[in-house]
Amino acid sequence: MDFLPVFLDIRARDCLVAGGGEVAARKVELLRRAGGRITVVSPRLCPELAALAESNSVQHRAASFSAADLDGAVLAVAATDDNAVNAQVAAAARDRGIPVNVVDDPASCSFIFPSIVDRSPVVIAVSTGGAAPVLARSLRARLETLIPEGYGRLAELLRRFRPEIRRRIADGAGRRRFFEQTLDGSIPELVFAGREREAAEALEHALNETGKEARTMGEVCLIGAGPGDPDLLTFRALRLMQRAEVVLYDRLVAPAILDLVRRDAQRIYVGKKRDYHTVRQEEINRVLVDLARAGKRVVRLKGGDPFVFGRGGEEIATLAEEGIPFQVVPGITAANGCAAYAGIPLTHRDHAHSVLFVTGHLKDDGGVNLDWPALVRPGQTVVIYMGLTGLEVICRELIRHGMRADMPVALIEQGTRAEQRVLSGTLDTLPALVARSEVHAPTLLIVGEVVRLNERLAWFQTERSVRD
Ligand code: SAH
Repeated sequence: MDFLPVFLDIRARDCLVAGGGEVAARKVELLRRAGGRITVVSPRLCPELAALAESNSVQHRAASFSAADLDGAVLAVAATDDNAVNAQVAAAARDRGIPVNVVDDPASCSFIFPSIVDRSPVVIAVSTGGAAPVLARSLRARLETLIPEGYGRLAELLRRFRPEIRRRIADGAGRRRFFEQTLDGSIPELVFAGREREAAEALEHALNETGKEARTMGEVCLIGAGPGDPDLLTFRALRLMQRAEVVLYDRLVAPAILDLVRRDAQRIYVGKKRDYHTVRQEEINRVLVDLARAGKRVVRLKGGDPFVFGRGGEEIATLAEEGIPFQVVPGITAANGCAAYAGIPLTHRDHAHSVLFVTGHLKDDGGVNLDWPALVRPGQTVVIYMGLTGLEVICRELIRHGMRADMPVALIEQGTRAEQRVLSGTLDTLPALVARSEVHAPTLLIVGEVVRLNERLAWFQTERSVRD
């Protein structure tokens, strides 16, 4: 982060704006909205600022800036059209430890004004750290369309009920659940439709009901986190992640995805390299049950899709046996994510009419236990999960069972992530290529004629790919 996002209370505090033009006027308007007491220092004022000075809404000092103007100020804005004056304001403010913004000069700023979506008291601030304000503005425009106008009124309603809610629901988790249930229900829509009295009545009613209820059972959401790119999460996954109280995750869940989990949720790492030990899996099943019994809203995050080589079935089998409520949210499995991001269609009218997903992990004796005759059939694509350590054996066995030695094969390393690399060759050449490239897990193997399409269809991180 280039800047620390904070919300500053400037109500009835002195703010200094140097400059009297339109640009200064925009900043003055913003500072006024936040309740600041503003002094404008400028020999001349534009009509808008002149009117504000006239009505005593801002103080005006008709002079050039001098450092003493900053006396007592908690914030300064340099918005003159003279770079030298702006620099002077910036230097004087910094000397005094006063946060300063220099309009259109990020390098001289100690703080920047973000683009904002104002649904006061709800305010969303977007910043690109000065890198591309236009991006922040376009993002802001999108947020404006997403967030109903009445959002601020909803916040006010909740604020009004807050003391009562605190009094009636003593435990923090229960209170949070109450708020979340409220927001999931019909009350927000009543507020947005301007029916605030009904909304207040409904809230009162919900509060009365809650008081009588016994502590509820928690639930477990088994969520597919996809192969790595956070944009590949489903809306539901994201919504549930942001409501979780506890999250269990493993090694395959990308950090960028974990960052999207509610900040104060408890995070439990249950990952282990390669396969889980059975006992370990039982332990995870146990923890899920215990947490849900304790009333927690639990998210079990799994890489890719929970039902594709994810042992998701085993985890929910235990939950089902124990009568714990659960739901399963599908994720994009590595095969789909990697294929799409590598430009390798898994099926194709000319090359492959079916696709097989298999795992290629090595057995203790160093062999790979696969149905080779089924894998070497023509006209299909074979996707092999966990196939890196067994790569050489896999390629050798496929050839031995009748596949062409020049059958195209690709190894996709860290698919869909910024680090994605595609190593492609043939059954014959790929093992050597991989051996001399420093490859990092997770990796996925795709075998079949479709792999060659990648030469024309690759679109993501293409400069990193390696071909033999
Ligand atoms: N449930 C997961 C698979 C878990 S098995 C899914 O649906 O994707 C773990 C294997 O998945 C890894 O060994 C690797 O082969 C593959 N994998 C997962 N994420 C990957 C990624 N981003 N890039 C390449 N392979 C990946």
